[in-house]
Amino acid sequence: MSIQRHPDGPVLVVGSGLAGWSAVREFRKLDPTTEVIMLTSNNGDFYAKPALSNALVQGKTAGQLVTTAAEKMISTLSLTLMPQTEVTGIDIATQHVITSKGSFAYRQLVLATGAQAIRLSFAGNAADEVVSVNSLDDYEVFRQMLAPKARVLIMGAGLIGCEFANDLAASGYSVQVVDPSPAPLATLLPAEASAELKASLSELGVQWHFGTSVTEMNRVNDAIAIQLANAQTTTVDVVLSAIGLRADMALAQTAGITTDRGIVVDSHLQTSAPHVFALGDNAQYASASLGGVSRTLPYVMPIMNAARALAQTLNGTSTEVRFPLMPVAIKTPALPLIVAAAAPGTAGEWRTQEEGIWHFIDTEARVRGFVLSGPQVSRRAEQVKLVSV
Ligand SMILES: Cc1cc2nc3c(=O)[nH]c(=O)nc-3n(C[C@H](O)[C@H](O)[C@H](O)COP(=O)(O)OP(=O)(O)OC[C@H]3O[C@@H](n4cnc5c(N)ncnc54)[C@H](O)[C@@H]3O)c2cc1C
Repeated sequence: MSIQRHPDGPVLVVGSGLAGWSAVREFRKLDPTTEVIMLTSNNGDFYAKPALSNALVQGKTAGQLVTTAAEKMISTLSLTLMPQTEVTGIDIATQHVITSKGSFAYRQLVLATGAQAIRLSFAGNAADEVVSVNSLDDYEVFRQMLAPKARVLIMGAGLIGCEFANDLAASGYSVQVVDPSPAPLATLLPAEASAELKASLSELGVQWHFGTSVTEMNRVNDAIAIQLANAQTTTVDVVLSAIGLRADMALAQTAGITTDRGIVVDSHLQTSAPHVFALGDNAQYASASLGGVSRTLPYVMPIMNAARALAQTLNGTSTEVRFPLMPVAIKTPALPLIVAAAAPGTAGEWRTQEEGIWHFIDTEARVRGFVLSGPQVSRRAEQVKLVSV
């Protein structure tokens, strides 16, 4: 089928992560011929980012995590890919983007620029040696830093920190985790589930420093000396930061597009600029509003839902995105967990239903979320049906 050039320009997609590729894949199901150009600052290979935090134990290199090479994506989806192309500006009035490789017109523009690891500043001469893993390249750098039996300090006991703790400990590394909160995944899990996770990871050898944080890190010969706020010290070889991600809004802000904690999009995924849309880790979705406050949803399932709706809109049928309940599987094989969190701010409390099942019950006695642990993770479908959204 031959590609049709539109007089106003192609559909332009910025970013080749799950959001960018999902948007193109869904659009192609509806429209096999309109010209599509993807501009991306990396090489465009397709991979599942969640695999980054459970790949060490499988001995995988970054190359082995690529599920579909860029060339194959190009031929399957009939698009033009501009790899290693940084988009630096958007001229909203003339519908052009400015890039490191020239300017491109667009009929519709999709921003799928993802999120960046939050970086904190620390005292000490090793502060610049902290790594975070948010891309294939980051993963390979991290992997290369790990000598056999390396001592790793993970900052952050959230979802990604716990997954890396499990993966590293199961791979034979010595793991310590530091977090100001009192327990792993403290804001997401009921206290009992959090305690189970802590115990399971401890059995693998993970050591915890809760209620404190790193204040200083200094290189001493081959190691890094860590100073904690609680006056304790420890010595490690590698420091991994897993304290969270922040939506990448730089491009949108340069163009004067409205941003908040992400690029603000309405229920049709349109930004404040005409013909400009956003989805993925960079987006703050009106469709995920609670009490009038819209939210970012930095997970895979929201991307899949958003991509399907956006494809319809790009194809001429203006379509709202609606997010169903989207449970997240936490990849800690030491204690598998599934979390369907209640919307933030929902008043209520966690109650144990049976061993390994907790419900979040609101003030009107409705189930608003659940957590499943261990063998109970197989009951996800049944539990989803119990939740009032
Ligand atoms: C370690 C880890 C484990 C995770 N595990 C899970 C999980 O188990 N379940 C789950 O649901 N979610 C998980 N997530 C979250 C999930 O992976 C993300 O929500 C998703 O991958 C985000 O995709 P994205 O396309 O929005 O962003 P990204 O993957 O960050 O892609 C952004 C793209 O934009 C490009 N880009 C950015 N700026 C520019 C520019 N100016 N010009 C050109 N290109 C640009 C980048 O090169 C990149 O290609 C995990 C995340 C991490 C880091």
